Amino acid sequence: MDYRDTWGDRERCTVLDAAHDEERLRVLVDVWRTDPQRSPHLHVIALCHHMLPGFHRIPQAEPGLTVDLINVPLDEALAQLAARVDLFRLRGLEGAGTGFARSIARLATRDARLVAQGLSVEQVAALQDQGFVFDACEGDAQRARFDSRKPRPPSAPVPERRAIVLGAGIAGAAACERLCARGWEIMLVERHERPAMEASGNRAGIFMPLLSRDDNIPTRLTRAAYLFALRHWARLGGIGGAIEGQACGVLQLARDAGHAEVQRAIAAELAYPPEFAEWLERERAEALLGIPAPDGGWLFRQGGWARPASVIEAMLAACGRRVERRFGVGNVSVERADGQWTVRDAHGAVVAHAPNLILANGAGAAAIPQAAPLPLAKMRGQVSHVPASLLPALPVVLCREAYLTPASDGLCSAGATYDQDPDPALSPASHAENLARLRGLLSDPHAAEGAPLQGRVGFRSIAPDRLPLVGRLPDFDAAGSTERLRDVPRHPGLYALLGYASRGLIWAGLGAELLAAQIEGEPLPLEMPLVDALDPARFVLRARRSPRGPQTA
Ligand SMILES: Cc1cc2nc3c(=O)[nH]c(=O)nc-3n(C[C@H](O)[C@H](O)[C@H](O)COP(=O)(O)OP(=O)(O)OC[C@H]3O[C@@H](n4cnc5c(N)ncnc54)[C@H](O)[C@@H]3O)c2cc1C
Repeated sequence: MDYRDTWGDRERCTVLDAAHDEERLRVLVDVWRTDPQRSPHLHVIALCHHMLPGFHRIPQAEPGLTVDLINVPLDEALAQLAARVDLFRLRGLEGAGTGFARSIARLATRDARLVAQGLSVEQVAALQDQGFVFDACEGDAQRARFDSRKPRPPSAPVPERRAIVLGAGIAGAAACERLCARGWEIMLVERHERPAMEASGNRAGIFMPLLSRDDNIPTRLTRAAYLFALRHWARLGGIGGAIEGQACGVLQLARDAGHAEVQRAIAAELAYPPEFAEWLERERAEALLGIPAPDGGWLFRQGGWARPASVIEAMLAACGRRVERRFGVGNVSVERADGQWTVRDAHGAVVAHAPNLILANGAGAAAIPQAAPLPLAKMRGQVSHVPASLLPALPVVLCREAYLTPASDGLCSAGATYDQDPDPALSPASHAENLARLRGLLSDPHAAEGAPLQGRVGFRSIAPDRLPLVGRLPDFDAAGSTERLRDVPRHPGLYALLGYASRGLIWAGLGAELLAAQIEGEPLPLEMPLVDALDPARFVLRARRSPRGPQTA
C-alpha cells in the first residue's frame, strides 16, 4: 500500500495492528525510514499475545519510532486505548464479532485508513455503520477510509516545549529525561547542591514486581512500571554499566504456610514465565540461599538492587545540554502570572520561569500551595547499613516484610522502617527494628550481632491508596460538584509526579513517560483504567464522596 497517504503531512503517524508480526513491523518501519516524505514520528501499536499481560512500550534505537505491544483481548484493548489512530491494520479477526467497530471509530482520526484481511460481511457492515467507506475489493485485501460526520474530539494543542522540573530526585530526573528525549528544554530546580540528597539518596533501592491472585490495578501498574524500568535502564547503559547495582534476582519469602498456599495458587493460575516470576518450594529456595526458607518463595530473576543516584545521573546525562541545573537554591516557592510559572528563592529572586511546571519534589510537595490539598503523608524510613562480615553472603536480594541486599563496598542494606516521626537523625530504635526483622528473614537470632548504628533516614511521600500521582494537578478550590475525572478543573501548565512511596525506582520511568505522552497528546503507554488510577484528580472525586475530605491512611 502507499503509506505516503497515511503519514501525509502529519507530525506523528499512528498505526494500530491487530496482530503483531515482527516481519510486517520491520517492513513498515523500513518504508517509513526510507521515505523522504515520512512523518517525523511513527507510533506502532500492535496486539501481541506472546508476552506478559498489559501494555508494553518497547524502547527503540530508531529516533522518532515508538512501538507499543499490547497483550490484552481485542475488545478490551481497543476500549482501553488512549490514542488517535491514522491507520488500522486488521487481521486475524475471524470470530471476533462486530463490537470492535465502535471502538475503532472512537480511535480513528478524521481521515483514518483501514487495511484488512478476512473481515466477515457482518464486520464490514459494522465498520460501515461507524463511518468507514470501503473500496472495491482487490484480491483478498479490504481497504476503507474513515468518513464520519460525527465531530471528532479536538487535538490537544502542541505545547510550548519548555518546563521547570522541581526536585532532582528520581522522579524529577526521569521527567527531564523523558521530556528532553522529545526535544524539551528543562530547568531542573533543586534546593540542595546535588541531586539525590533526599529520598532518592539511599545506597541501594530494590526493584521487583508485585503479584496478586486477582491481578488487581496496583499489581498491573507495578508490573508495567517494573518492566518499563528494566527496558529503560538497559537503554541508559544498564545495571552494572552506567547504573550501579546488581540484577541479581530477588527472592521474596512466603510469610507462613498459609501465605505459601496462596502463592502456589497464583503460580498455578497465572502461569508466569519463570524469568518474570517463579515459585520456589522450600528445597529449591534453600538450595539457592544456603539458609532456611521453610515456606518457599517467589524468585524474580530480573529483579535486584540499584543505587538511585546512579540512575539519576544516567538519566540527566542522557538529557545532554537540554537540561539546565539550578541547584543549591534553597526552598523555592512557585507562582503563575501571564501564562508562565515562576519559581523564586527565599529572597524572592527568580530562579526559573517557564510555561510548564512539573512538581517532582517528593515529600516537599505539601509546602507548595497548589499541591497542599493532596492527601500525601510524609513517612519516615530508616535503612541500616550492616557490615557484610556479620551476615551470610546472599546471591540475591532477600525480602519478606523487610529486605536485605547483597554486599556492596562491604555493606548490606537492611530495611526499612515506616515511622510517623519527623526526626531525620538515625534512631537506635529503628536500627533495632531493622536488625530484628533481618534476623527473622535469615532465621538466625544472632545474625548481625554488634552491627553498629549506621544507615540513612529518608522521607517517603505516600498517597492513601499507595499509588503514585501522575498527571495534571487538579484545582481543588474550583472543582465544584464534578463527578468525572475529565471534568475536574486543572491548574494550567502544572503537573505532578508525586507519591512514589516505597517504589520510586520503578515508578519514575513509567510515570515520566506517561506524563510526557499526556502533555504531547501522544498515545498513552497504559490502559485507561490504569491511567485514571494514577490521576492526581482522583482525590477530588474521593474527597467529594467522603464528607471529611481527602483522607490519608
Ligand atoms: C528508607 C527508605 C527506603 C526505600 N527503599 C526503596 C526501595 O528499596 N526501592 C524503591 O524503589 N524505593 C525505595 N524507597 C522509596 C524511594 O526512595 C522514593 O520513592 C523515591 O526516592 C522518591 O523520589 P522523588 O524524586 O519523588 O523524591 P526525592 O528523592 O525526595 O526528591 C525530591 C527532591 O525535591 C527537592 N525539593 C523538595 N521541595 C523543594 C523545594 N520547595 N524547593 C527546592 N527543592 C525541593 C528535594 O530536595 C529533593 O531532592 C525508599 C525510601 C526510603 C525513605
